[in-house]
Amino acid sequence: MVLDMNLITEKKESLGLSHKDPFQANILELRRLNHAASEKMIYHLVLDLQGSSIQYEVGSCIGIYPKNDVKEIFHLCRLLRLSPTTPFYCERLERTLTVREFLYSHANLDKVTKKHGELASLDPEFTDLQQLDHVSLIEMNPDIADPIVYLNALLPLLPRYYSIASSKHRGPFRVELLIASVDYEKAGKEKKGALSRYLEEIDPESGTLDIFYLHNPRFTVPEDHGTPIIMIGPGTGLAAFRGFLQERVHQNASGKNWLFFGARKRLHDFYYQEELEEYIEAGKLILDTAFSRDQEEKIYVQHRMWENRHVLWQWITQHGAHLYICGDAKHMAKDVEAMLEKIAIDLQGFSPLEAKRFFKDLRKEKRMHLDVY
Ligand SMILES: Cc1cc2nc3c(=O)[nH]c(=O)nc-3n(C[C@H](O)[C@H](O)[C@H](O)COP(=O)(O)OP(=O)(O)OC[C@H]3O[C@@H](n4cnc5c(N)ncnc54)[C@H](O)[C@@H]3O)c2cc1C
Repeated sequence: MVLDMNLITEKKESLGLSHKDPFQANILELRRLNHAASEKMIYHLVLDLQGSSIQYEVGSCIGIYPKNDVKEIFHLCRLLRLSPTTPFYCERLERTLTVREFLYSHANLDKVTKKHGELASLDPEFTDLQQLDHVSLIEMNPDIADPIVYLNALLPLLPRYYSIASSKHRGPFRVELLIASVDYEKAGKEKKGALSRYLEEIDPESGTLDIFYLHNPRFTVPEDHGTPIIMIGPGTGLAAFRGFLQERVHQNASGKNWLFFGARKRLHDFYYQEELEEYIEAGKLILDTAFSRDQEEKIYVQHRMWENRHVLWQWITQHGAHLYICGDAKHMAKDVEAMLEKIAIDLQGFSPLEAKRFFKDLRKEKRMHLDVY
């Protein structure tokens, strides 16, 4: 057999640079970052990039492919009366693999579609498919007309994205991530998100994860090192800003760094506290924190922004600061944007419309950047 060396080199050069060409990264470290008494599970994950083509920038993301629960797979196989080792032709992947392999790495076992409802002869009156996962659907309606058609209708198991929480200057062959485990309820069961569950099961000493790099040139530190930056990143939003801070410290950037961080409890959830305090001591960081459950009334980052509104507004309007928001899109980003507009109305005398336009223009000028999810 003649090997095409060009093809091999091409393959190597792109390893980990696309979702189609993931890199199998060794886990260098996987540990709980917050206090054991905290309700939420937060992980610090360090991955080895040696052998990949990934050369990352701060503000970008790593995609990770989750794997499904083996116990759930065996249960599904029993319900579908299929052997896990049966060869199965997957139409989407256009190849044959075992049922087990398919269910482990390629199928979303959570989201039930209309087609699955039909294949399970589900009462057409039942429309709330979001309340079901595949196990609960088949348990309710065990006579699946054609299990192979059922498998082929399963949605793909998509990668999960994580903001890079380190700078390459801290070690070019490693990348660090901050991951919050997701719990939810479905079909009357307490469940964990696919990747959240997989992280619990994986061996932190010898485990690997299939990853790839997703570059986001719109969310990174300013080219001009003298530009001050305001970072608003409660919860997992801190991930990207830890990367920013490491990068700015490496650059010896003269521009000031101001971070608004928030979580539930200071004692439990102050991620990377020591590192942040070192930056403060070295004069590299101004930090304002909001721990919502440390007192009776809930205090969030937007309240700290309001308390600091005069200086904040000066940074934006007089010092040319860049504004960054990272983290939860559902509540946090909306509340923070509303607070920014409130500050503009209060201090500049803008109408609500003018305040909106002001921040729209700031985005156009590439001085306001959002990475929310
Ligand atoms: C650009 C980008 C950057 C991200 N960066 C980070 C990061 O740095 N750190 C981090 O921890 N996460 C980050 N995320 C979120 C992450 O990609 C996953 O969505 C999250 O970890 C859940 O994955 P999972 O497989 O455990 O849960 P899934 O299996 O995806 O979800 C299970 C169920 O939980 C619901 N769900 C998912 N997320 C939440 C949530 N936050 N709150 C409530 N319900 C939810 C889903 O709708 C689904 O019903 C980022 C997402 C994007 C798009």
